[in-house]
Amino acid sequence: MGKRGIIKRLLSLCSVALLGIGSLFPAADAKIYRKSETAEKKIALTFDDGPSKQNTEEILSILKEYDIRATFFVIGENAERDPERIRSIYQAGHELGNHTYTHRYISKIPREKLIEEIKRTEEVLHQITGEKPKVFRPPGGYYDDASLAVLEDMGYTSVLWSLDTRDWSIPKSEKIVSKVEDNTTSGDIILFHDLEDKRLPTPKALRAIIPYLVENGYEFVTISELLNES
Ligand SMILES: [Zn+2]
Repeated sequence: MGKRGIIKRLLSLCSVALLGIGSLFPAADAKIYRKSETAEKKIALTFDDGPSKQNTEEILSILKEYDIRATFFVIGENAERDPERIRSIYQAGHELGNHTYTHRYISKIPREKLIEEIKRTEEVLHQITGEKPKVFRPPGGYYDDASLAVLEDMGYTSVLWSLDTRDWSIPKSEKIVSKVEDNTTSGDIILFHDLEDKRLPTPKALRAIIPYLVENGYEFVTISELLNES
């Protein structure tokens, strides 16, 4: 082997070594979105933790009344138990997102478990709708770089929110209404829940929030549509 050959060999060994080191660390650029930078008055309503017997239908009927699309980050085991409601969400033109199979905090479970949680939910949704979800929301909003990298590898866009209604804590609906009306701006991602709880103030709040935002020129889009804008 000539001098040149040796150098070449060394260089290729170095790059193999570097690749090896690289794989020890998750890609630093795995991203999680909180809102869109769009200049247009577009926003996304999102509903987590469903589907539910108590609230999904009413939420769907309000959205239908105003002819708007939203995104439902559903829990896999809920979806599996209730394929009819998943079908209703899908057929109404809303986007379905992955929210893990058993609502696990992704930064607190091993990689294999995370992959299983995502895949199982994906399979359930695929079986019902024929489509795989493209967007993911971490339960509780907890995440770390390593789990975001896993999700990115699995083809997901990870999404948090820019406006939290805290509707899960069962506040008065007026409180949610004023929070959303006072704070919404272009590109916002608004967090609601579609929980199995009769007292959930979300449907009532939506009946006030949606007409207000429509009147103020906002357009409602799914998460994928919103993020493709920016
Ligand atoms: Zn959740």
